[in-house]
Amino acid sequence: MHNRMMAHTVRNDLPEHHPLTPNEFREQGHALIDWIATYRENIEERAVSRTIEPGAIRAALPKAPPRLAEPVSDIMADFESILLPGVMHWQHPSFFGFFPSNVELSSVLGDLLSTGLGMVGISWEASPALTELEETCVDWLRQMLGLGPAWRGAIQESASASTLIAIVCARERYSNCAFAQGGIRQPEQPGMIYTSARAHSSVGKTAMIAGFGMDHIRIVPTEAGGSLDANILRAMINEDIARGARPAAIIATTGATANTALDNIDAVADVAEEWGMWLHVDAAMGGASMLLPECRSGWEGIERADSIVISPNKWLGAAFDSSVLLVRDHEHLTRVMGTCPSYLRTPTDGKVTQLRDWSIPTGRRFRALKLWFLIREQGVDGLSERIRRDMVNARRLAQLVEAEPEWRVMNKITLQTVCVRHEPAGMSGAELDAHTRAWVQTLNESGKAYLTAAQLDDAWMARVSIGVLGTEWHHIEKLWADMREHATQYARLPLAA
Ligand code: PLP
Repeated sequence: MHNRMMAHTVRNDLPEHHPLTPNEFREQGHALIDWIATYRENIEERAVSRTIEPGAIRAALPKAPPRLAEPVSDIMADFESILLPGVMHWQHPSFFGFFPSNVELSSVLGDLLSTGLGMVGISWEASPALTELEETCVDWLRQMLGLGPAWRGAIQESASASTLIAIVCARERYSNCAFAQGGIRQPEQPGMIYTSARAHSSVGKTAMIAGFGMDHIRIVPTEAGGSLDANILRAMINEDIARGARPAAIIATTGATANTALDNIDAVADVAEEWGMWLHVDAAMGGASMLLPECRSGWEGIERADSIVISPNKWLGAAFDSSVLLVRDHEHLTRVMGTCPSYLRTPTDGKVTQLRDWSIPTGRRFRALKLWFLIREQGVDGLSERIRRDMVNARRLAQLVEAEPEWRVMNKITLQTVCVRHEPAGMSGAELDAHTRAWVQTLNESGKAYLTAAQLDDAWMARVSIGVLGTEWHHIEKLWADMREHATQYARLPLAA
């Protein structure tokens, strides 16, 4: 804008330019929607990803910002020629990496509408619709997950932020709000956090941000079924209490990132209740399967937890960022997180929900719109059917892998991820690890599909994370053929650094 003003006031030989008018926006916006629609329609024709030399994209971009205004059509042309080659196609049906991060097109519309409205929800009064739609959609989600009416929540920017808030709530509960008052210090009786080795890395990070420190996070071993072992957990807590520490929180995971293992919530809740600890359940990805009544047994005991995070921006289909933190004691949450500077005081205080008291940022986007569009356009039945399809496909793939000599399924199929290893005769240890990483890398580089290699109990395996919107069984059959081809044909290639 500054440059544009300079163009008008200092020099008069430059082309006149004004910000995009609504009419031009209409034209460019239609073109952009067309582009996205065509992209989604033809996405299968693309390689899932392309190998890009680090720094290549930055090198193709101008080092300094443009002094003169440029037409949007030029920006879009550069997007296609410079950036698109470096885009990983997460919505590609042959994307089996990390976790599904589905974006239904209805949710794109909701997100666009939110951006176009340009509101900031710093208080109920700043936009009543923003607050009340969020309350409604979060309550819809609660019902969809089969949770009781005591649960209330808000949309956060990530599962990590949700877990941070849960841990801060736990900290203030165990310390009786001493941290909120006295700040971070090493209390005489330090609080302890317990979680499993399968927990997402955000647990350690957010506990550290909340002031617990790595010395006060205990990693509880898992039992054969994959859940953190409640007996060992109890023994650890007793040990810690004996040396003067205090149990503060248990962070359970249902749908662990590497292998989708489910912690036994009921067993863990017994322990949490014994010592009055906060129980947070990270169901960021896996929570979507709670839509299916037949899957709820994996969450037995959830009504005894204090908080749960589920991210509709993962498997469910809402555009990032959309992570819902639900709590049972919302008064504790808002006591801990609440702020009320004078400029945000309004006559409705006390009668309405102030969502800033439920989150770290003061302001928020109209994020509920994308969830609203998604849930209404798909219906709960439509969403449930898709989740069910993915779980069936995962079990079918596991059967194929199990039936194939020299291949092994490494996890219990609880949700939609199949962890596999190709184990050529006589190969083990570091050589097998290198082989696994090599074939996954060559498959990814081929652009035919994308998988993630990860460690499970120190051994490398390939994770096949099923669940992109467009992924049907024939894509998985094709992937299985490609996996076998790459693992056998490209075996024993040296692993690139
Ligand atoms: N928790 C689990 C179980 C996850 O799988 C992930 C992401 O992979 C996260 C938390 C972190 O999610 P976010 O990026 O929204 O913080």
